[in-house]
Amino acid sequence: MRIVAYLDELDLPVAGILADGRVITLASLAERAGLREELALLDVRGLLAEDDDLAETRTAMAQALRDGMRGVPVAQLRIVAPLEPGKIIGVGWNYRSHVLEQGMPIPDRPLLFAKFSNAVVGDGAPVIRPATTQALDLEAELGVVIGRRARRVPLETAMDHVAGYVASNDVSARDLQGSKPALAPGARGDGQWLRAKGSDTFLPLGPSMVTADELGDPAALRLRGWHTPAAGPDAGGEHLVQDGTTGDMIFGVAELIAFISASITLEPGDVVITGTPSGVGVFRVPPVFLIPGDVVRVEVEGIGSVTNPIVDSDGSVPPGSPAARLLAGRDDPAGAG
Ligand code: ZN
Repeated sequence: MRIVAYLDELDLPVAGILADGRVITLASLAERAGLREELALLDVRGLLAEDDDLAETRTAMAQALRDGMRGVPVAQLRIVAPLEPGKIIGVGWNYRSHVLEQGMPIPDRPLLFAKFSNAVVGDGAPVIRPATTQALDLEAELGVVIGRRARRVPLETAMDHVAGYVASNDVSARDLQGSKPALAPGARGDGQWLRAKGSDTFLPLGPSMVTADELGDPAALRLRGWHTPAAGPDAGGEHLVQDGTTGDMIFGVAELIAFISASITLEPGDVVITGTPSGVGVFRVPPVFLIPGDVVRVEVEGIGSVTNPIVDSDGSVPPGSPAARLLAGRDDPAGAG
């Protein structure tokens, strides 16, 4: 299944199931396909808390499809990020290619950091470049959504705790992070990564959550990042900047869940973003940073892509820029087809 979230008439996110470009709402599943009434108005995190392996939802969906139930066209809904996670745990330096591009040794254990729900935005929503950075960068990543609560789980059963996957962009401020190529001589970063990784809008997630059974093995997925610059010699064209495979991960999904849950209990709807391959802007020569007007896109094979315009701290973008065009299409969904 592919699970999305959309805003209801009260502007609250609720979960729905994608089928053929339409969304079957939980409310309609409760009304006509036997889903428990209590699940009808939940968001994705709430749904996972009640139905952690999604078995009830899957049964109801099968019934709905047998009955020929048709959902609401996606274009008629205000789709948002698939979920607002309780916890977001990031993993640094987890792709061999990304470690090598920095000339670092392969780490002997995962390096964990945190982001919070203030960072989450959906497909198409602006990523704000705050006034606190001049060195904004993208990181294409596989996001893992926890279903069943995971506390001190062994490697062998760790995957039983995965509900599904999302494409994610671990947007990072390289100067705050302390990356040398982003710093003027003598300047220093924050010393830790909270502002660098956790600023508002620094985590596009989407476009939907693909359930674990539908995606299959997460260890052999192509993972790509694109940048459409607003200025410079390549202005306006979409350029592939990251092109890796999740097979390059140093610590795989099961290892990460086992490692994290040894000390941090993972709850339904928590998200682990699992690291990025090479090609990020800060390690290009010369470095390439994101500026207002740019557009970034992250795609994970089998999941889809999440595309976001970069806007300035006051919300503005240069007129005519790729970001301005994307935002105009978003405000006028009929015109965008
Ligand atoms: Zn990252």
